[in-house]
Amino acid sequence: MSFIKLQGTTLFDGTRMLKDTVLIITPEGRVEAVVPRTEAGDDVKIVNGLLSPGFINCHCHLELSHMKGIIETHTGLLKFVNQVVSKRNDNIADLPAAIEKAENEMLEQGIVAVGDICNTTDTLSLKAMGRLYYHNFVEVIGFEPAQAQEHFNRYKLVYDDYCRAVDPRQVSLTPHAPYSVSTPLWQLLTAFPGNRLLSIHNQETPEENEWFLKGTGGFSALYDRLQLQQPPIPPEGKTSIQTYGAYLNNRQQALFIHNVFTSAEDIRYIKKRVPEAFWCLCPNANSYISNRLPDIPMMMEQQVPLVLGTDSLASNYSLSIWDEIRCIQKQYPQLSLELLLTWATLNGARALQIADRYGSFEKGKSPGVLQIAEDQVCRLY
Ligand SMILES: [Zn+2]
Repeated sequence: MSFIKLQGTTLFDGTRMLKDTVLIITPEGRVEAVVPRTEAGDDVKIVNGLLSPGFINCHCHLELSHMKGIIETHTGLLKFVNQVVSKRNDNIADLPAAIEKAENEMLEQGIVAVGDICNTTDTLSLKAMGRLYYHNFVEVIGFEPAQAQEHFNRYKLVYDDYCRAVDPRQVSLTPHAPYSVSTPLWQLLTAFPGNRLLSIHNQETPEENEWFLKGTGGFSALYDRLQLQQPPIPPEGKTSIQTYGAYLNNRQQALFIHNVFTSAEDIRYIKKRVPEAFWCLCPNANSYISNRLPDIPMMMEQQVPLVLGTDSLASNYSLSIWDEIRCIQKQYPQLSLELLLTWATLNGARALQIADRYGSFEKGKSPGVLQIAEDQVCRLY
């Protein structure tokens, strides 16, 4: 077999930056070896810039792709969600084309796998074409505890549609957020067979903790407006994650999204409660919605695995993991590119349970090969 040998200015292998190192792949992009230049033999192709495995986007909502530029910035989460709900059916005729354009953008930006939130089957026909790997998180929302089974059944139909069209291991029924899922609905989701992997929007706004700690604030007002007979989860005087954390199933892997108002104590709680947990940062979306980023140095001190996501085009200007890396570097210049790329590649692949194929240059994997030069990402294989 004829192999392809590539040498960049630097090779990032999924965890480390390596100099004078050659990546050897098959023409189909399967990794054969990573070797020192001195052992690579002839026909090494020199590439300008950094070589990296393909990026993993752990959090997206492809089905909101027609909402780019529709929602104003820095409104805070409650107003943002309100506008998504009220405007997502405007321009709905543009949605299929917008979804395809968004997927093209991710492909061009070197993304090879996506954790995508789905409330509908709008993205299903595109995903069935298999141009990108998706884990489909069919997202369940249900405020009123007495209607939990009804809420579950409604989204289970969407889940079944996905399972018929794609590999069921790539589909989960997942809770939306701590403030929008009732206690009995949580119990249905964490007991649902086959749910190996859950994703949850966590502590994205200070009002979330305010509700769970004190029963006041924006969510209290929202529940009043919805005229609920009971709130979804009653406040217990603890932060949101330390309240709903009691309902998590420790045999399921959890992916916590956003974490803008998560404390070290919250993380220590989850480390004891859920051994397999990943923490997803969506810095550009956080900047768009609330103009604030999570305390990333604190999260690193806690030594938890971090991953990256773009969120949707309703709250971001692009679907580019490289743009997320640039956003973090701007706010936290002390963080090395090696570290940020690890979050974008191997950690992301582990978070979506696809590290056997993606995330690093290890023999037998087909993780995609990216060239990063002059602030541009280009997919080579
Ligand atoms: Zn989201």
